Amino acid sequence: MRLVRFIEDGRVFLGRLDGDEVVAEGTRRVLENVRLLAPCTPSKIIGVGRNYAEHAAELGNPPPKEPLLFFKPPSALLDPGGDIVYPIQSSNVHYEGELAVVISARCRNVPQLRAADFILGYTICNDVTARDLQSSDDQWARAKGFDTFAPLGPCIATDLDPAALRVRTILNGVLKQDCSTSKLIFDVPTLIEYVSAAFTLEPGDVITTGTPSGVGPLKPGDVITVEIEGIGKLTNRVVAGLRHETEAPLPFEET
Ligand code: MG
Repeated sequence: MRLVRFIEDGRVFLGRLDGDEVVAEGTRRVLENVRLLAPCTPSKIIGVGRNYAEHAAELGNPPPKEPLLFFKPPSALLDPGGDIVYPIQSSNVHYEGELAVVISARCRNVPQLRAADFILGYTICNDVTARDLQSSDDQWARAKGFDTFAPLGPCIATDLDPAALRVRTILNGVLKQDCSTSKLIFDVPTLIEYVSAAFTLEPGDVITTGTPSGVGPLKPGDVITVEIEGIGKLTNRVVAGLRHETEAPLPFEET
């Protein structure tokens, strides 16, 4: 099953995809007329760095000896089709197409062999990263955590074997990343065990498993799509951020 969230007339619905249609509460809508939301509302988004050897190497890093974890705040979530805002603090923002795991139930200390009991399904995350700030800040909170730096969706595919899924990233129609999740250094059960040994996981929490080689820069006006077989396509546009003094003052108002 492929689960979605969407909004209509200000109300949020849960539904499932059926071909080109969305089924929710017994009624059907044409998918292209539906405004999809990120498919879950995580309390935390846990990222895994350098989890493909070729990607670690392309940025000059050795493969890690154990999973390298970081957080993206829930405020970074972006809906399918939403705009990635290029922050004025950075001049080198990259796309990173990734398979993401969605947790089904509260859990802690989950052994690898029981990992499947706590996985709702799989979705796509674009782990957008300000590469320059990732270096200059010494840690990754800002570089990975700007608003809109966690596009997620379009759906959660249940009953999917994550062992060998093709991950592709397409920038303005040009293929940039093309790899299989079979190349993950730390596979999904290993990550669940490692992460849940440190953090209690909640339903809807997301673990994004790392990006293959082929990362590269974005610029305002770009259209970036991450596609994973069995899940679908996650497409977002990049727009220029505004200077602080012209940003909307707090409190934030939905536009
Ligand atoms: Mg990443």
